[in-house]
Amino acid sequence: MASHNPTQSDEATGAQVVTRFAPSPTGFLHIGGARTALFNWLFARHHGGKFLLRIEDTDRARSTDAAIDAIIDGMQWLSLDWDGDTVYQFSRADRHAAVAQELLEKGEAYRCYLTQDELAAMRTEAQEKRLPFRVRSPWRDRTDGDLSVPHVIRLKAPQDGEVTISDKVQGDVTVQNAELDDFILLRSDGTPTYMLSVVVDDNDMGITHVIRGDDHLNNAFRQLALIRAMGWREPTYAHVPLIHGADGAKLSKRHGALGVDAYRDELGFLPEAVNNYLLRLGWGHGDAEIISRDEAIAWFGIDNVGRSPSRFDFKKLENLNGHYIRESENSYLADIAKPRVEKLVGRALSDADLALLTAAMESLKPRAKTMIEVADSALFLFETAPLNFEEKAAQQLRDAPDGILAAVTAKLRAIDGWSAEDIEHAVRSTSEEAGLGLGKLAQPLRAALTGRSVSPGIFDVLALLGRDNSLARLDAAHNYPAGT
Ligand code: GLU
Repeated sequence: MASHNPTQSDEATGAQVVTRFAPSPTGFLHIGGARTALFNWLFARHHGGKFLLRIEDTDRARSTDAAIDAIIDGMQWLSLDWDGDTVYQFSRADRHAAVAQELLEKGEAYRCYLTQDELAAMRTEAQEKRLPFRVRSPWRDRTDGDLSVPHVIRLKAPQDGEVTISDKVQGDVTVQNAELDDFILLRSDGTPTYMLSVVVDDNDMGITHVIRGDDHLNNAFRQLALIRAMGWREPTYAHVPLIHGADGAKLSKRHGALGVDAYRDELGFLPEAVNNYLLRLGWGHGDAEIISRDEAIAWFGIDNVGRSPSRFDFKKLENLNGHYIRESENSYLADIAKPRVEKLVGRALSDADLALLTAAMESLKPRAKTMIEVADSALFLFETAPLNFEEKAAQQLRDAPDGILAAVTAKLRAIDGWSAEDIEHAVRSTSEEAGLGLGKLAQPLRAALTGRSVSPGIFDVLALLGRDNSLARLDAAHNYPAGT
């Protein structure tokens, strides 16, 4: 075995930190992957280092361009920018194969001519003896194979002793070398295996810290054997526990194992909320729950990543989202809500509509937990009279005290401008003159103006709709046939 230095952290050596996110583009950027990307990004930014993106597209049958686009789109949405060009693993296959050759030449790898039948027989024998199956190839110490016969190249992995990884999250983890086998580096068709490609790329990209899901911990021992065989610098490993569902089971679709695009488009989350939530999922800084990006960069470290799996909690994410919605600029929220509003009202919004949507955010954002709610609650602004009344609103119209809507309409029509003061006065004086509490008038008035039983405050609704639109809706609602 090649000599090696014990794993060291770069905090100690002072070398520049280089991390990477290495997704396989076989599906969307799921929430666990996004957290891995975030942790790597934060670690690099905290140390003033580099964060690189490598697309592991060597599985040609399962990798798709759509998945690559989804990954890049998701990272951009979360503002996880990476340094330098994106590395595409498949394009480096020649380099990976060259390293396998180098290992052959160094005597650290060998050509193995075991056939499928021989391997199957070994597997059966292991099963019969109730032993774990490990490939022990007779070709490990032979060099007399016929090059023209199909064969693979295997690593000559250490067989005795043990190997310990000082993982930054898991602590020291030791495995007996006898448990590892001589895994394949190059397949018989000459293509490199995943295990080889990852190690070569991490080395060539100068990766100092490998931060990833703990489902890769087992791979790390094999990868380390390869790194040592090449005499390369060992990265610091940090294997982060996977995210579990609220019930403790492995994260499934039902729990929220969706693409980040679904968190944006279907569930209406803001990237600030998703980032904050993912950061807290498995990492903590005292009691801090709301953490800005600058704080996250200043505070992030692997030391505070927990060892037990974190549970995904939609309620918490929603509460954070509500917070970020309330904190956001109105124009930012309006831009996000716009496509959904356009889709649901069935037309493009004009500049004036967008200005209205922006103004409405002030009254809409205190009530909403998601951007879906924000957009849906803004729809009434863009509908045309006669409105489609929700059942409850229709009932409120039917229950309105006689003549009250006609009275308030007359008062509103009589005001000169459309100032907040005049609007409020017209509504309040109508209810006082009728001897009714404001609520008795506000409910049917809201129903008449919005078609809904829930909306922002009634004075805000009148102000946002403007004079003509408000009066048109009220006139249409007077004629609302009783009993419909
Ligand atoms: N491509 C692997 C994955 O998507 C990650 C490999 C790694 O981080 O080393 O699970």
